[in-house]
Amino acid sequence: MSTTAPLLAVDNLAVHFPMARKSLLQRGPSPVLQAVSDVSFSITPGETLALVGESGCGKTTLGRAIVGLYAATRGAISFKGENLNAMTDAQRKKTRRAIQMIFQDPYESLNPRLPVSDVITEPLLIHGIGNRSERADRARELIAQVGLPVDALNRYPHQFSGGQRQRIAIARALGPEPELMVADEPLSALDVSIQSQILNLMSELRERRQLSYLFISHDLAAVHHLADRVAVMYLGRLVEVAPRGDLYDSPSHPYTRALIEAIPRIGQGRRSRGRTIQGDLPSPLNPPSGCAFHPRCPKAQAICKTEAPSLLPAPGREQQLVACHFKD
Ligand code: SF4
Repeated sequence: MSTTAPLLAVDNLAVHFPMARKSLLQRGPSPVLQAVSDVSFSITPGETLALVGESGCGKTTLGRAIVGLYAATRGAISFKGENLNAMTDAQRKKTRRAIQMIFQDPYESLNPRLPVSDVITEPLLIHGIGNRSERADRARELIAQVGLPVDALNRYPHQFSGGQRQRIAIARALGPEPELMVADEPLSALDVSIQSQILNLMSELRERRQLSYLFISHDLAAVHHLADRVAVMYLGRLVEVAPRGDLYDSPSHPYTRALIEAIPRIGQGRRSRGRTIQGDLPSPLNPPSGCAFHPRCPKAQAICKTEAPSLLPAPGREQQLVACHFKD
């Protein structure tokens, strides 16, 4: 475990959404969508933690809770040792400035009616940073930092390609000088040929600005390039957290192994794909008992149906935390 003080610490976080009953005749308690349950992890300054898992596993909800778009049902989110829920409004606003988000679809996240100059300076205005002329200077610096020409500031988001729009979204997020970026599937709306350019840009910015990332993705091949550590999420819970090398070279949880085996590989002149995970992700409205992965797990035993495993170090690997009764 790192001894560096965490920039972000998430402790036993739960984000649940009460749902309406399907009919007035339905009895019993109202259904609750358990999007995130008992999640704990930390990110140190300059570190990139990738959060991976299938669509619908709760990754985006977790990211949105960290930036304050969803309220926590239980647990705590702390930034530099301060619990966000215990802060005054002014403290929270200052902290929010230090945590920015990049969204999956750069077209939807950018206001199409604003020129790029306003798109980029809007967060500066919200946070009271600089006067009009200083904000304009800052926009010119930021657009150059993401590799676009200065005249891009006079155009509108729809006049750019998907990759260029994601660069504009990154410039906007960089404006308030964040220390942590929550990047929610920043590559998945882009062509494969553009994805590596955005990954390289994120990597350069991390080096230049000592940024930390929570990099949310369903794509283990993509996160391999950027992540220092990887957290694997299944049905709202973390099932494995490990340094990148340990996770890819010796995954311990059966779900992680299945995800890694499913990464497309180039083999003997043709693309091959390993074994894929059987069955569908169960509903977070009614998660399976015990270990939530048991209906799909090739190693499941009787205990897995009744007892939920805790996230604990794998034998002989202190930094590799695994939630499985039969970890390797
Ligand atoms: Fe599979 Fe059981 Fe481990 Fe869950 S606890 S991953 S069902 S072996």
